[in-house]
Amino acid sequence: MDCLFCKIIAGEIPSTKVYEDEHTLAFRDINPQAPVHVLVLPKKHMANLLEADGETAGALLRTVQQVAKQEGLAQDGFRVVSNCGKNGCQSVEHLHIHVLGGKQLTGEMG
Ligand code: 5GP
Ligand code: ZN
Repeated sequence: MDCLFCKIIAGEIPSTKVYEDEHTLAFRDINPQAPVHVLVLPKKHMANLLEADGETAGALLRTVQQVAKQEGLAQDGFRVVSNCGKNGCQSVEHLHIHVLGGKQLTGEMG
């Protein structure tokens, strides 16, 4: 399958890994929108949140918690975003959650 993030998971395309476990991978976004900008994704390919089962959703949220603590975001806070489909401006069709922090983010949500 011609999926950019599957290639990163397979190690065919390099990335800066932040955290990995059996079901999830977290790495730094190549075009960061904040001092900390990490992508959290399931190792199993699925297009977006609509395809996630409960076990996957739970594993992803646990990794979001882990990344937030590891990156020092727990005290001052952070934002999680998962763009879904056309109106959500999803550009890579492998489910991923953006973890953004390390500065005061704006109040804009869209
Ligand atoms: P989306 O727009 O689908 O929500 O987010 C895709 C994200 O993937 C973007 O923030 C973009 O910067 C990031 N991205 C695209 N290609 C690569 C890549 O090759 N490596 C990494 N680390 N991030 C990427
Ligand atoms: Zn994929």
